[in-house]
Amino acid sequence: MIIKSVQKLTLIDFPKVIACSVFLFGCNFRCPYCQNPELVVGPKEPSISLEEFFDFLKRRTGLIEGVCITGGEPTINRDLPLFIIKVKELGFKVKLDTNGSNPSMLEDLIERGLLDYVAMDVKAPPYKYDVLAGVKVDEKKIKESVEVVKSSNIDYEFRVTIPPGFFTVRDIIEIGKWLKGSKKLYVQEFNPEKTLDERLKGRKSDKNELLKYRDVLRRFVEYCEIRLVS
Ligand code: SF4
Repeated sequence: MIIKSVQKLTLIDFPKVIACSVFLFGCNFRCPYCQNPELVVGPKEPSISLEEFFDFLKRRTGLIEGVCITGGEPTINRDLPLFIIKVKELGFKVKLDTNGSNPSMLEDLIERGLLDYVAMDVKAPPYKYDVLAGVKVDEKKIKESVEVVKSSNIDYEFRVTIPPGFFTVRDIIEIGKWLKGSKKLYVQEFNPEKTLDERLKGRKSDKNELLKYRDVLRRFVEYCEIRLVS
């Protein structure tokens, strides 16, 4: 596992938890709108060793309560469970961001009580997944992960990012049907500042489109809100 960066404090990424965020290198997707291209295709050198990270975490005891593990895609790392065990042993809560491509690891982490919150990206309706993920995706795995998350007893959210020109209302209805009965879903504004596909740079999400999609999705899930780029 390669740690690319650490955000020492975040008050917004882990609901109700004062946390830090750790950004892991590497991803099996190539979403054109990815706002962390340096974690996907950038140089591999770690910026902080695991030892340094855990030293940092020990010094944060009593100051923060949790750790957000993000990337990249954290679950491509076989040593992720071990990493999380060490974080939990130090007394911190753990939030995992995932693209849902590794349902077995996700299920295992949840069953072992190693996660306190999961935020799973849902990139598109199943028939459009490859376009939004930028690679050929095993849809069955994504569907499995959705079920793992939905049927878990931990707090979770799904999130759909809306880059301009990719979605239709039909797509959004299909996502709604797929996630029907879920607890929480965010419709996320696309961040045009930094993108994996340069052609998307500078193109903004249409706010009216976000509102329209939120209203459609509210018919399917318990809670749905827009999340704007801060
Ligand atoms: S947005 Fe896509 S490419 Fe970027 S880290 Fe997430 S899953 Fe990977």
